[in-house]
Amino acid sequence: MTLIVQKYGGSSLGDADGIKRVAQRIISTRKAGHQVVVVVSAMGDTTDELHDLALQVSPMPPARELDMLLTAGERISMALVAMAIANLGFEARSFTGSQAGVITDSAHGKARIIDVTPGRIASALADGAIPIVAGFQGVSQDSKDITTLGRGGSDTTAVALAAALGAETCEIYTDVDGVFTADPRIVPAAHRIPRISYEEMLEMAASGAKVLHLRCVEYARRYAMPIHVRSSFSSKEGTWVTHAPDPQSEEDAMDQPMITGVAHDRSEATITVSGIPDKVGVAASIFRTVASASINIDMIVQSTSRTTGQADISFTLPRQDVPAAMTALRDVQGEVGFTSLVFDDSIGKISLIGAGMRSHPGVSAEFFGALADAGVNIRMISTSEIRISAVVDAADLDPAVTATHRAFGLEDGETEAVVYGGTGR
Ligand code: ADP
Ligand code: ASP
Ligand code: MG
Repeated sequence: MTLIVQKYGGSSLGDADGIKRVAQRIISTRKAGHQVVVVVSAMGDTTDELHDLALQVSPMPPARELDMLLTAGERISMALVAMAIANLGFEARSFTGSQAGVITDSAHGKARIIDVTPGRIASALADGAIPIVAGFQGVSQDSKDITTLGRGGSDTTAVALAAALGAETCEIYTDVDGVFTADPRIVPAAHRIPRISYEEMLEMAASGAKVLHLRCVEYARRYAMPIHVRSSFSSKEGTWVTHAPDPQSEEDAMDQPMITGVAHDRSEATITVSGIPDKVGVAASIFRTVASASINIDMIVQSTSRTTGQADISFTLPRQDVPAAMTALRDVQGEVGFTSLVFDDSIGKISLIGAGMRSHPGVSAEFFGALADAGVNIRMISTSEIRISAVVDAADLDPAVTATHRAFGLEDGETEAVVYGGTGR
């Protein structure tokens, strides 16, 4: 019997009917002769609602308590799915992340999985029961406190469990038919990518394509775990995320397009530090300050004025980290000697991804041309070997994505991508 790990996202578990539909699907996998381990997310927008509730009682909730609160969402789902399965005559047993052996570091809100010891899952399987595991959560090895893996982290729970249990594949069930060349909510003419390499999927996820959590793809690549992203609302084949195509194989070479897709990200903001004395070590102190507040930055632009001899530095960071970064930088203003500090959270980032970029010159020129034709002004640029990203005004983001997608001929002229559920929140 092969073992399959299936993860159902919040949009697939929107209400009682959704839960019953998912239970049916799990049972049919079992009836087809597979062993199944299930990972569930919180129902619908529960995580956002719990987060909003926390902010109503405290503007800066303690991270430990916030994690304790948010993990309740997945516990509701796991128990309900187990009940729905029992109602269909099969035994299911629900487990919290901690009970399933998901051990993490103690970085609340963005904990990393450091070990998975799924002893109780293995015994449930041996007893013929279907284990249902709460995604997105673990337990800190040091403090023994409950942690969360970051928004969208149930995908990572699923792949980590699949790797630890030696599953054949990890199926990620969501509200679209797979990974598309752009978010189908913005570009209905986007087309499904039948197969994508870990490397390209990593760039897509890191650039904001939230269909898969970044760390889930990192984990899958490390353990060579194939991921099948598909809809829980249809029986269509989805997208396979696997190793890179074999350049020696003619068939693989044929189906590798130059551009994989266009991703967008609305979760970032910029901070601009102006009037910085143009001398050695100043950038180091600014970024050391930001890093010591545990904030990861993404793009950086520096410009120096010849007339004043002063520099401006702008960088992007997660929007939720803006208050902490502003506070930390204000504290060192006197010491570093800059004149002003401003943030802007009405920005968006668009990225063009494709492994073929390595060998095709002129992709950047075509990308910037597409943005110019759409009347979109570019505020920052960054590139990697297989990605070009630009920061634009938030209001320009959707038109920028649509124009770029069209300019690179990624549209599917025949079918429209279906979004089956979810609010896109
Ligand atoms: P789930 O609740 O199943 O985890 P998510 O909302 O986290 O679902 O992820 C699915 C959503 O990801 C889709 O509804 C879609 O709007 C969005 N998305 C963004 N980029 C892409 C893409 N390139 N392909 C498919 N979906 C994408
Ligand atoms: N429920 C969590 C979230 O909304 C985890 C997940 O959906 O994967 O981020
Ligand atoms: Mg998700």
